[in-house]
Amino acid sequence: MKADQLLEKSKQYMWLPFTQMSDYEQDPLIIESGEGVRVTDIYGKTYLDGNSSLWLNVHGHQKKELDEAIQKQLQLIAHSTLLGAANVPSILLAEKLIELVPEGLTRVFYSDSGATSVEIAVKMAYQYWQNKGVSQKMKFVTLSNGYHGDTVGTMSVGSIELYHKVYTSLLFDALVIPFPAVYRHPSNDEQVVRDESLHKLRLLFEERHEEIAGMVLEPMIQGAGGMNTMPPGYLKGVEELCKEFNVLLIVDEVATGFGRTGKMFAVEHESIQPDIMTVAKGLTGGYLPVAATFTTEEIYNAFYGKHEEMKTFFHGHSYTGNQLGCAVALANLEIFEKEQLVQQASDKAELLTELLADLKELPHVGDVRQCGLMVGIEIVKDRYTKESFSFERRIAYRSTLKMRELGLLTRPLGDVIVLMPPLATTAEQLVEMVAIVKEGIRLVIEENYGLTAA
Ligand code: PMP
Repeated sequence: MKADQLLEKSKQYMWLPFTQMSDYEQDPLIIESGEGVRVTDIYGKTYLDGNSSLWLNVHGHQKKELDEAIQKQLQLIAHSTLLGAANVPSILLAEKLIELVPEGLTRVFYSDSGATSVEIAVKMAYQYWQNKGVSQKMKFVTLSNGYHGDTVGTMSVGSIELYHKVYTSLLFDALVIPFPAVYRHPSNDEQVVRDESLHKLRLLFEERHEEIAGMVLEPMIQGAGGMNTMPPGYLKGVEELCKEFNVLLIVDEVATGFGRTGKMFAVEHESIQPDIMTVAKGLTGGYLPVAATFTTEEIYNAFYGKHEEMKTFFHGHSYTGNQLGCAVALANLEIFEKEQLVQQASDKAELLTELLADLKELPHVGDVRQCGLMVGIEIVKDRYTKESFSFERRIAYRSTLKMRELGLLTRPLGDVIVLMPPLATTAEQLVEMVAIVKEGIRLVIEENYGLTAA
């Protein structure tokens, strides 16, 4: 089919996620193929994939070993249900994952997206206390600007106003405490922000711990909330408070897991031992939808008993534990070892820090936040007052469109431009990406310079 016909049909039939379709109609993009860190559209234009699809293609595209793992598994079976029956690759993957995750996490519950992995975590934490007979522990604590997925349960423990506000009356109430954001805090001091935020959490726990089942957060850096980094020591402080007040700590490593922050899991930065941990995205190297929720033996045991005791966890999806997905995840983890990908990511993150320093030359770059290969570049109207451009200006969105013209794909989050390159991106490609980011922002600001004073 001709490219123009595909384009017309995409406009006629498709409804894309997180997309205002009138924007898509103006600036459509249809990807046809990909190789390494580049993808190509139906017109043959090639782009650097600065977003790793949506933060998940750790090796880029068309990784030979992953292609082969799927082909090999296809000769045996594509899928059979995990309800009441295990399958071979899911067992082998579970063993491998338990070796990798923080000590104390001993059980794997599979699902098929980041949102389902967190939905499961929340339901498990809730039912854990019910099964233990501590039935008043029913509430969840979350951080402002947190994002955990788009299902009703995960939106309830999320708090991004733009995405969640319209659904408010549909969601259960969570206790939201402020994220320890340093950039706009009057002190601009990491320690002050950390101590103040931990103090607020302590006060909340002191008052209400008897009704709190768990606390859910993205460790070290919030993704969709704007690439907000936590001050050092904050996560450790949360862990200590959760232990002190008997609150389950649920860490959502959907975005941060599998080397993204320069460690296999972000919790390793502060040697955290969560009670529940969720992963998805990078688990299959961006190939197939497999997610996992890990728990401790203590939690697992609370669900174990005779059928009539009613302790069973009644949750499962049709594609849970899909064999093709588990086989490709296993092959993916082998590549992590063989290519020492986590170390590579950590080294590249250092290079990226150096490259990003250049962006500060642009007068409208307010803040550059980074944790490993997760980067957010916040564009502001005024660097000194930190005032944002008005919502309608869509300055970050327009910058990403300019970057697309210049050959780099990435996405905005409000006023923040996200850069999440594949872990396999080479030093030269990182240089190329940051140069395009800089040029994209510069051109958009220049073209609209008159607007900045409005
Ligand atoms: N949690 C976090 C921290 C995420 O970043 C995301 C997705 N960006 C999700 C959960 C939801 O994952 P999915 O899109 O696979 O449902």
